[in-house]
Amino acid sequence: MDFQKLVAVFEELEQTASGNKMREILAEFLKTIPAEDIAVVSYLLQGSIASEYAAVVLGIADKSVLKSLAAASGVEASKVQKLMQELGDAGLTAEKVLQKKPQTLVPVGKLTIHELFEKLHKLAQVSGTGSQEQKSNILVSLLQKTSPKGAKYVVRIALGTLRLGAGEMTILDALAIAYTSDKKNKEQLEQAYTICPDLGIIAETLVKKGLKGIEKIDLHVGRPIKMMLCQRVEKLEEVAEKIPGKKAVEAKYDGERVQAHKDVKGRITLFSRRLENITAQFPDLVKELAKQIQAKEFVIEGEIIAIDKDGHHLPFQTLMQRRRKHDVEKYAKEIPVLVKLFDLLYLDGHSFRHEPYEKRTEQLGKIVRKNKQVLLADKIVTDDLDEVNDFFQQMLKEKYEGIIVKSLSGEYQAGTRGWNWIKWKKEYVQELSDTLDLVVVGGYHGKGKRSGTYGALLCAAYNEKEDSFETLCKLGTGLTDEVLAELPLKLAKYKLRQKPVRVNCNKEMEPEVWFEPKVVVEVFGAELTRSPFHTCGSGLSLRFPRFIRFREDKKAEQATTVKEIEKMAGKGKG
Ligand code: AMP
Repeated sequence: MDFQKLVAVFEELEQTASGNKMREILAEFLKTIPAEDIAVVSYLLQGSIASEYAAVVLGIADKSVLKSLAAASGVEASKVQKLMQELGDAGLTAEKVLQKKPQTLVPVGKLTIHELFEKLHKLAQVSGTGSQEQKSNILVSLLQKTSPKGAKYVVRIALGTLRLGAGEMTILDALAIAYTSDKKNKEQLEQAYTICPDLGIIAETLVKKGLKGIEKIDLHVGRPIKMMLCQRVEKLEEVAEKIPGKKAVEAKYDGERVQAHKDVKGRITLFSRRLENITAQFPDLVKELAKQIQAKEFVIEGEIIAIDKDGHHLPFQTLMQRRRKHDVEKYAKEIPVLVKLFDLLYLDGHSFRHEPYEKRTEQLGKIVRKNKQVLLADKIVTDDLDEVNDFFQQMLKEKYEGIIVKSLSGEYQAGTRGWNWIKWKKEYVQELSDTLDLVVVGGYHGKGKRSGTYGALLCAAYNEKEDSFETLCKLGTGLTDEVLAELPLKLAKYKLRQKPVRVNCNKEMEPEVWFEPKVVVEVFGAELTRSPFHTCGSGLSLRFPRFIRFREDKKAEQATTVKEIEKMAGKGKG
């Protein structure tokens, strides 16, 4: 296909500000493109010669472009430079100087899109000493074959500055209009694009095999898929609504997401969340993954974390120093990293992305030989929200960002912020500004790890006026192993057969064991809310209470009063 045909569309698109108009122009144009050209055209429309993940860098310097323009036009380099300064754009300069081209310099044939594409790939491959000279020569050969308008776009593509505003989604839209009867089919194209973020492949498949072909597009080792993202909730309780029953709770690390691919040849490629190829930045990690993962082919995901000499995690900012092209080996030594793996998408010929989380991570556990650099994400599996909160608190103590709750039955939703993964970070937690001192009035027997002790304690505030105790929360979080071990003995002497007269408790909250109101505990909480379950004041309850310590120095009547709590709740609302 003649490059001039593409140039005409570039011109039209450049003069269009409306997205809809742009789609129409593109759709009309794409309809006319033969199947063998559609992939190349799709890349060039984005001003590139490959999809982003392929990491093809043209790397031609402004100076070399200037030299090429002088050579191709016969205009003196100093004049070209002056024009460039005046116009402030290499593309416009190219157009201008080539218009000035002496008639003696006749065009050397016609530039086709394939020649442009191939030569630009060649240009990208040139490296080492003298490479700018070679790149400049290749550009000259392209400029000699095109019109002044064509030169404008060749130069912009070479410099990576062709910004027509036709983003990947616009092109997908236009493809749907051009090649399927319905624009609605764009969703299917978008879906395929999350699995194969390569417009060239999508376009060619659509043109050659139609929507049936698009349906069959699947994960391919060496080609990244868009990463699954997390949803967020306002309150931790919503997690239980979105993911009922048992769920996995993983640490949310403060590092860089990575998707690691290993192909049958043993080649490992690392992709960032933006799907950039970041393999060259982490030769240390590539080596470890090659050693520690027992599989011929895989696609796995995890979080890269910078560590100090003792293996302690360092913040994201430190890891970012590894984002470099030079001195990579030196920095690999200075800032070592580890990876916490949490997902498996492909293994030895089988795609796992439609498998439930439980199966994916079970299989991941089987192929990972853990060492100091390659580990699995820390996690628990539970159906108890208090345990989720416990784990969350523990993760904050470890200085992690928070947790990600994952549905055991959920599949990997590429490129989607779905409800199969929910993040809960410390920033979301509202905390009361002060702790409360509450009286233990009842207990619930512990199960599992907590059998033989109490799983939770019913805590109350003191009502001075009535000389009574009104329940405020069920406390199960923050109880360390030592505290749990101490509890049965500590509370034994206060055990009662029936509810103490001075305690006001709703039926729903009745504990398995009653205690005389004696033991005072200091408790931290997220928020005071109105609830039908507790009797404190006008029916207040403390969300996510967390045990801090026993207050041996306080009598039950010195506990925080209902009046104080009412006041705190009022403030919170204001
Ligand atoms: P956010 O960027 O806040 O939407 O959170 C999602 C990011 O958390 C992911 O892209 C990962 O980089 C990071 N992350 C940390 N730990 C995990 C984990 N266990 N599972 C999934 N993502 C994680």
